[in-house]
Amino acid sequence: MCGIVGYVGPRDCVPILLEGLARLEYRGYDSAGVAVVGRGKLRVRKVKGRVGQLAQDVPARLSGPVGIGHTRWATHGVPSEENAHPHVDGSGRVAVVHNGVIENAEELRAKLTANGVVLVSETDTEVLAHLIAAVDVDDIEEAVRRVLPDIVGTYGIAVVDTRQPDRIVAARNGSPVILGVGDKELFVASDVMALVRHTSQVVHLEDGEVAVLTADGFSTRTLDATVTTRPPTTVDVEDDDYQAEGYGHFMRKEIHDQPTAVERTLRGRLDERFGTAHLGGLNLTPRESREFKRVKILGCGSAHYAGQIGAQLIEELARVPADSEPASEFRYRNPLIDPDTLYVAVSQSGETYDTLATVQEIQRKGGRVLGVVNAVGSSIARQCDGGIYLHAGPEISVTSTKAFTVTTVDFALLALHLARVRDLSPADGQRLVRGLRALPAQIGEILKLEDQIAGLAAEYGTCPNVMFIGRVRGWPVAREGALKLKEVSYVHAEAYPASELKHGPLALISPETPTVAIVPDDELYDKNLTTLGEIKARGGRILALAHRELPAALADHTIVVPRAEPELDPILLGIPLQMLAYHAAVLLGHDVDHPRNLAKSVTVE
Ligand code: GLU
Repeated sequence: MCGIVGYVGPRDCVPILLEGLARLEYRGYDSAGVAVVGRGKLRVRKVKGRVGQLAQDVPARLSGPVGIGHTRWATHGVPSEENAHPHVDGSGRVAVVHNGVIENAEELRAKLTANGVVLVSETDTEVLAHLIAAVDVDDIEEAVRRVLPDIVGTYGIAVVDTRQPDRIVAARNGSPVILGVGDKELFVASDVMALVRHTSQVVHLEDGEVAVLTADGFSTRTLDATVTTRPPTTVDVEDDDYQAEGYGHFMRKEIHDQPTAVERTLRGRLDERFGTAHLGGLNLTPRESREFKRVKILGCGSAHYAGQIGAQLIEELARVPADSEPASEFRYRNPLIDPDTLYVAVSQSGETYDTLATVQEIQRKGGRVLGVVNAVGSSIARQCDGGIYLHAGPEISVTSTKAFTVTTVDFALLALHLARVRDLSPADGQRLVRGLRALPAQIGEILKLEDQIAGLAAEYGTCPNVMFIGRVRGWPVAREGALKLKEVSYVHAEAYPASELKHGPLALISPETPTVAIVPDDELYDKNLTTLGEIKARGGRILALAHRELPAALADHTIVVPRAEPELDPILLGIPLQMLAYHAAVLLGHDVDHPRNLAKSVTVE
C-alpha cells in the first residue's frame, strides 16, 4: 500500500507534500518522511508514526521547489525512522520513495554489501537508492531505466537526484502512480486524492513506464526508452469529498453518505418500463449475456462478502450458478478458467493487487472479466473487459462501509439485467426496480437508529467475543458484520451460518459471548427462530436484526430494519452492523479511520 506524493514547481513543496500525505494516510500510517531538493542539497526528514507527527517534526526552514514524500505500510522491517522512506544512497545524492514489494531484495542487498555498500535499513526499498546512484550516467531517468529491469516484484516509485535538481523521475510496475499536471507545476501521487486540490488533469502511468516531471511538463517512456504519448484526462472528484465535516470520523461520514451514494449509483440505470437495469460499461450483447453458464465473483475482504451477496442475487434472479471466492486464494490455485463463465472482479480502489493479478491470470487463460470498481481509471478498471463503476465517491476510512453497500446495489443491478435477458418476468423486474428505487430513503430510516445502535454497541460490541449468525441471505451479512467489528474495534467476532451453529460453534455460546443474529422476515424466519431458541437455552444473549420486534424470549434486543424486496434485504441489513462496529470502536477509544495493522487499497501481496 503506502502513499507517495511528489511536487516540482515554483512553490515550496513541503506543505504540498505534507497535505498530500495526510490525504493518503488511508494507504499506510506506520511511518512517514519527505526528501526536499533545493540549493544543490538533499534534505530528508522521517518519523516513526503518523503524518501529523512528521508535520510537527519538519523544521520551518525545510523548504524547496522539488520534493517527494511517503507514508508507509511496512512489508520489510518494522515501522521505525530508519525504515521510513525516503531512502537515500550513501553519498546523500539520490532519494527514493517506493510502494510495493521487491521480491529479489535479499539477493540485491547481498550484492551491494559484497561491493562495500552499507545499508542502513531493513527495507527492500533501500536497494533502489544505492543501485540508481551507482549507475554511471549523468541522467537520472536513464539511471532509473537501467536499474528497473533487475527489479523483481512490484513498485510505484518517485526518485530525486541533486545532480538534476529540477526533476522527479517516477515509474510503475504493479503499484499505482498518477501524474497531476498543473500550471507550471507537476505532481505525482499514488492516488488522485492527493492531487485534486491542485489539478484535475491526471495521467495514470502504465506498468513498465517511466516519467520525468519538471515544472514545464512531463514525458513518458517505456523501460527500453520508447517514447509514449499520454494525454492527461480530467478527474471529476470534488475536494469536499475529502473532509470529514461535522461527522468526527470518515467512517461515520461515509455511513451517513450511503443514501446519496446509492442514489448516485442507481442514477440513469433503472428502467421502470421494461423492469430492467442498463449498465453501459458491461460490453456484453444480450446474446452474450444469455450464453455464459456460470458467474464467478472474485474480491478480497469486504469485496468478497459483497460478492457473496452478489452471487446469491445473480443465482436467485438470473438462475445462473454463481459464487464468490477470495481473489487472494483463487489466483494461487491454478484455477480452471472456463470460457462459458463470466468472471467479475470487485475492488473499491481498483488497485487491490491480489484482485488485479487474478484478473490478469483469468485473461491470460482466455476468460472474460468484468470489474466492479469505485476508482475511475484505476488499474483493475482499465484491465477488465468491461464493468460497472460504483460512483460511491471517495471512501477514505480504511474500513469499507459505503463502497460495500454500493457494491451490493450494483450486483442487484447486474442480477436484474442478466435476469431480464434470461427468464425473469417484466412484472418481477418492475417489482425489483421499485425496490431498488426505495433503498436510499430506507437507508435514511436506518441511519435514524444511530442513537439506539450506539447504546447497544456498549452491550454487544465491546465484549471479548461476539458471534454473528445468518442463514442464506443473512450469512454474508453476518460475515461482513463480524469483519467490521474485528477491523475497527479489535473484538474477536466469529461469523457462522445459523444452520451450522449446532454442528460445532454452539459450544462457544455462553452469557459472556453474545450473538448478533440476522433474522429477515423471509421463508427462513421460523428456522432462524429455532436457532435463537437454542442459543437462549444455553444462556446466550441475542441482538437481532429483523423486520419486526422479536419476542423477548428469543432476543434481548431487536434492531428493526425497514423491509426491502426480499432479494434486496441483505443490502439494508448490513447497515446497522456498520454503525454497531463504529460505535463500539469509539467506545473502546480506537483510531476508527486508521485501525491498527491495516491499510486501505492493498497494493501488496
Ligand atoms: N516494501 C516497502 C517497505 O516495506 C514499501 C512498503 C509500502 O508499500 O509501504 O518499506
